[in-house]
Amino acid sequence: MRRISRGKFVVIVSFFLCLLAIEGWIYNNTDGQNLNIKYESFDVRNISTANVTKKFRGVGNGLSNIIKVEKTTYSFKAVVQDKEAKEEKKEEVVPVAPPVPFWHLPTEMGTISQNPHYSHMAFDITSPRGSNEVIYPVANGVITSIYNDAYGALIVTILHEVDGARYTSQYVHLSRYAEGLYVGKWVSYTDPIGWMGTSGYSTGVHLHIAVLDCALYDPNDANCANLNSFFAYGNKKALEGYWGLGSYVNVPVSWTSRS
Ligand SMILES: [Zn+2]
Repeated sequence: MRRISRGKFVVIVSFFLCLLAIEGWIYNNTDGQNLNIKYESFDVRNISTANVTKKFRGVGNGLSNIIKVEKTTYSFKAVVQDKEAKEEKKEEVVPVAPPVPFWHLPTEMGTISQNPHYSHMAFDITSPRGSNEVIYPVANGVITSIYNDAYGALIVTILHEVDGARYTSQYVHLSRYAEGLYVGKWVSYTDPIGWMGTSGYSTGVHLHIAVLDCALYDPNDANCANLNSFFAYGNKKALEGYWGLGSYVNVPVSWTSRS
């Protein structure tokens, strides 16, 4: 009799253990299904930001019932490494994630036709669209000047503040300005500021773009208190190996950066 009771006891305990296991499995499974995340869209056309829409579907209240929608915009920031850090990492063979630029490219399409050097502190960018190529700010900022230089080039400069540091981007040779531009206007990186052109000292339609870590026309900024100091500072930085926009943006040979 004792042996039978023990046997029955074991069977009953096993049965309940089994029930607990099944309940646990159902609970975990249901919990997982309740947070069924569906990625509706992932916009990677813009290399600096990504929009992700998550839809949470409830299974308890009917299939494909959307109970929650979350929209998130991810902005990527540049990883700026100093020379020492780069040298240290030289020997390591570590797979690294692709660079995530903070700055936006100034055009939708383009090819670099000239890199910065000591007498040309800027990138020259051409486009298959020619003067139909819209020029955008490389980051949000405020317009600090709209002017023609001595050769008649149409120029815009924008002041940016990124992580507490100030930068000036300069866009040269535009064919025309966007409407409604004025000095002091806040612009987003999605606001057109003009169109590519060949105004001024230029042999073909292109954008000449310089980005310097100074605030143009700020009397408190000795580096770029005026246009002459802007160029002088740019050339000094170029001799030091500073490549303006290229220091921050991984600029491909050609690209489509904006939707
Ligand atoms: Zn140029």
